[in-house]
Amino acid sequence: MANKYVLPALPYNYDALEPYISTEIMQLHHDKHHAAYVTGANSALEKLEKARSGALQVDLRAVLRDYSFNVDGHKLHSMFWMNMAPAGKGGGAPGGKVVDKINESFGSFDIFKKQFSDAAKTVEGSGWALLLYDPEANQLVLTQIEKQNLMHLAGMQILLGLDVWEHAYYLQYKTDKGKYVDNFWNIINWSDIDSRLGKVIV
Ligand code: MN
Repeated sequence: MANKYVLPALPYNYDALEPYISTEIMQLHHDKHHAAYVTGANSALEKLEKARSGALQVDLRAVLRDYSFNVDGHKLHSMFWMNMAPAGKGGGAPGGKVVDKINESFGSFDIFKKQFSDAAKTVEGSGWALLLYDPEANQLVLTQIEKQNLMHLAGMQILLGLDVWEHAYYLQYKTDKGKYVDNFWNIINWSDIDSRLGKVIV
């Protein structure tokens, strides 16, 4: 039997990312937005199950689209919380395997940081900037996800995501998305990102 999707607890307190991300944003983002994606993913799965048994007539295309949106929202947010560390404990430069891979793939950490920031700042509308590892090309690549599931790249390991939906920053930063992106570097959790790369064979 299939498992239900479950909202994970935040790995730190709601106020842990202050002053870079406010307590209010973290409460709403985790308890309302992420929770809604978990509910949405479970509800889509239930509809698909009922459709199989004939208990429910569904627009399969619409339900599959709904499932993709909600399940990717759930998985990306679960990773996003781990990609950040409490203020004072995060930030700085990466170590471990990931720094070598960044240097190899982007030329230098500074070039990577600029390109990832540019990717995040130039997302059109709601979306994410992601850092991924492509085992086939044996390199790190960037993508800008629209919403949370469009422009998805298949067969890649996602290491890092930055949510640039307005709900992620607007209450605190208003229209200054750039400052939110710049401040993200103060709370980035390099050991989490390095451990994700360590789980794939590089
Ligand atoms: Mn979000």
